[in-house]
Amino acid sequence: MLDKPRILNTEKETKKFAKRFAKTIKKGSVLAFYGDLGSGKTTFINYLARDLGIRRRLISPTFVIQRIYENKDFNFHHIDLYRLKSEKEIIDLGLLDLFEDPNNIVAIEWAEKVEKMLPRGTIRIYLNYIDKDKRAIKIK
Ligand code: ADP
Ligand code: MG
Repeated sequence: MLDKPRILNTEKETKKFAKRFAKTIKKGSVLAFYGDLGSGKTTFINYLARDLGIRRRLISPTFVIQRIYENKDFNFHHIDLYRLKSEKEIIDLGLLDLFEDPNNIVAIEWAEKVEKMLPRGTIRIYLNYIDKDKRAIKIK
């Protein structure tokens, strides 16, 4: 969608961009997010969830690093792997099952931790901190 990096000058621009991006997302998509702490991964995913029409928020009791948003015709999974350490923890998350379910949209922060598990067709979103208000985004 956006091979060349694009500058998001303010959070408002990020919000607008997320809205456009949301229109391109199909059910069954896996979205892998890369970028340092504070680069805007969570912010972007939250706007995206809203643009996809997410209303109800469920917090899974078993996965503290996972938030599940149930929607009429798909489930939106927001996964943050920042604190994840061992391979076992990763396997226990059951990510592969999540990826295979065509009713899911899965957004993963710190996707590099599960790089080898990401399915073909994963959409990769790279965020970079430029200054207090500015971020760069690249999508592959
Ligand atoms: P991450 O999940 O990558 O650690 P967060 O989304 O939690 O990052 O934090 C990003 C912070 O940067 C938020 O406090 C957000 O308000 C701020 N911010 C400032 N400018 C922007 C921008 N252009 N796009 C996204 N976030 C921005
Ligand atoms: Mg985050």
